[in-house]
Amino acid sequence: MAQLGNIEAGSRHDLHVGISPDAPDEADLRDDGEGAFGYAHSYETSSRYDGPGLRVVLFVSGCLLRCSYCHNPDTWHLKDGTYVSAQQVIDRLAMFAPALRALDGGLTISGGEPMVQLAFTRRILAGAQQLGLHTAIETSGFLGDRADDRYLSCVDLVLLDIKSSDPETYRVATGRELAPTLRFAERLAAMGKPAWVRFTLVPGLTDDPSNIEGIARFVAPMKNVEWVEVQPFHQLGAFKWKAMGLEYKEADTTAPTPELVKRVLEQFRSAGCRAR
Ligand code: SF4
Repeated sequence: MAQLGNIEAGSRHDLHVGISPDAPDEADLRDDGEGAFGYAHSYETSSRYDGPGLRVVLFVSGCLLRCSYCHNPDTWHLKDGTYVSAQQVIDRLAMFAPALRALDGGLTISGGEPMVQLAFTRRILAGAQQLGLHTAIETSGFLGDRADDRYLSCVDLVLLDIKSSDPETYRVATGRELAPTLRFAERLAAMGKPAWVRFTLVPGLTDDPSNIEGIARFVAPMKNVEWVEVQPFHQLGAFKWKAMGLEYKEADTTAPTPELVKRVLEQFRSAGCRAR
């Protein structure tokens, strides 16, 4: 029986490993219960980058992708997270709710991948909505088929990471298939669910002009996409790969130059996307 812990305020850049050794493997998780309990990495209380207004960002554990440039490999496995109750998270969130409401913000669940622990994150999102908060998830969309309409009704905004438009590049970058993400994006567009598309610009991996062109052409007609956000690769997560004894393929990759960022933004804008 897993021991309940306390979720900690901190930063996505803090290293958390080996906290819940008895946790199931994230690939085997059958998260079809009521989601009263789950595994979380940490939360930040004052983000201005992960949705509109001021955000509390909850980083949950579990991800089935293995992005070569991942900043948070300590969110991949449930066993590296803290076992907490959804109610504990909601109670903590309630303390911040007046400030979040006053600053037009809310809750964003990131990770890891929120849809690994579907029932747990749904319960927290529903609790946030009951507090009068705007809700968002940041997701790769890989598990989008798991999200039923009940789940999406608890989500006001989807921050959808489209890491590549080319299936082979996507596989090299993430170890997984691209198709589920595109399918999820099309479903969100069809239902008019507000979305921000996020693209991580990694020199030598995702910066090929045809790769950006492919995403831009795919996203431009989608009226639900309010923003395309270009996120420059950085090395802030490198120490985690080292501490966890993982082989880090991007050790020598540099951040994109301002000229490269400008070129990519212009590609999105000239295709008709609102990009920043
Ligand atoms: S989807 Fe996000 S958390 Fe998962 S491996 Fe990729 S960057 Fe890391």
